[in-house]
Amino acid sequence: MTTFYRQPVHVARGEGVWLWDRDGRRYLDCYNNVPHVGHCHPRVVEAIASQAATLNTHTRYVHDLILDYGEALTAKFAAELESMVMVCSGSEANDVALRMAQAMTGKTGIIGTDNTYHGNTAAVSQLNASKVPVGGYLPHVRRVAAPDNLMPVGGDRATQAKAFAEGVARAVAELEASGHGVSALIVCPYFANEGFPTLERGFLDPAIEIVRRAGGLVIADEVQPGFGRIGSHWWGHQRLGFAPDIVTLGKPMGNGHPVAAVVTRHEILTRFQEAFKYFNTFGGNPVSAAAAMAVLQVIEDEALVENARDTGAYALGLLEELAARHDVIADVRGAGLFLGAELWRDGKPATALCAALVDEMRDRGVLLHSVGRHSNTVKLRPPCVFGRDNADMLAEVMDAALGAVA
Ligand code: PMP
Repeated sequence: MTTFYRQPVHVARGEGVWLWDRDGRRYLDCYNNVPHVGHCHPRVVEAIASQAATLNTHTRYVHDLILDYGEALTAKFAAELESMVMVCSGSEANDVALRMAQAMTGKTGIIGTDNTYHGNTAAVSQLNASKVPVGGYLPHVRRVAAPDNLMPVGGDRATQAKAFAEGVARAVAELEASGHGVSALIVCPYFANEGFPTLERGFLDPAIEIVRRAGGLVIADEVQPGFGRIGSHWWGHQRLGFAPDIVTLGKPMGNGHPVAAVVTRHEILTRFQEAFKYFNTFGGNPVSAAAAMAVLQVIEDEALVENARDTGAYALGLLEELAARHDVIADVRGAGLFLGAELWRDGKPATALCAALVDEMRDRGVLLHSVGRHSNTVKLRPPCVFGRDNADMLAEVMDAALGAVA
């Protein structure tokens, strides 16, 4: 595995927003979105343990939990997104979503951004930016310039939506000319791996219109922003104000238990089953469904979406104060508990400085990481039980660490 930091953190235990290493040292976890409701949340642990002691098998049988979960989850979406497939990872979810789009449209072309990651299957890794696939990108995949705050597409933030849509229009024209046609535009509605630029509501509308006119579907990869992290909404697509045909979910869904899902319209799921006859041995097993159900309930019972909104706004304010004191912070942005501080120095992205800061913070007991095309944005994405006192500690440590490395 590829680990973080010069010296990897050798973790032994977690609770809430805290991790302990094997020597008993405590770290404030400002990075992990997988333990969405907090590391080792007792209700999720109990749900997993008691279901494992009652029944766990594959999904060739009907059982209450997967049905109840399907209803509880789809209730969080627009009425037409009423069908769910459970899988085991975000990669699988995106793989299924791409094939749903192919089954529905009869076309194969896929459009994504040029600075993204959607997972690790052979099909999905065709969209990954960090490594060119062996043999190059396949001709049915088109990558369009990703939006950005400090280096916007087309050079101007005000016209970025139009410039992004023009990139999509070029991709559509190429896919039609090559005979692939357009099956889907797949995007993270928060552009998480792209460095989560600040985008106005409706940003994607011109691009989506072009895709739909060409007969393509829109896939929202909610693996990172989903389940209320962004504070204002449960899902990133609701915040940006568009209606996806297919939504993929993962990471936070089981608080660390490997469970993921695809949510779509009944018609699309039916066409997918007709075309592919999908089966997934572990997808939606009773223990996974129990873990996922407990996460949904804890988000509601502990008002974690509201906490993401309120604590996130407070933390963003602290980052803005830091930016006023440290010149290297060129941009502060984000929503809810998904925040970033972009570092520039001498008119250039400060990649090495960002890496040094990430390591310095780790040495001072705060875990975070970097993101963006130049890995020069500090990425903050803590468990959603993060509180104001945690945000205060984060800001204090970042202040001191910036003083030490900048
Ligand atoms: N989509 C996005 C946007 C992701 O960031 C990731 C993982 N980083 C995935 C999909 C893949 O999820 P998984 O690792 O669970 O397969």
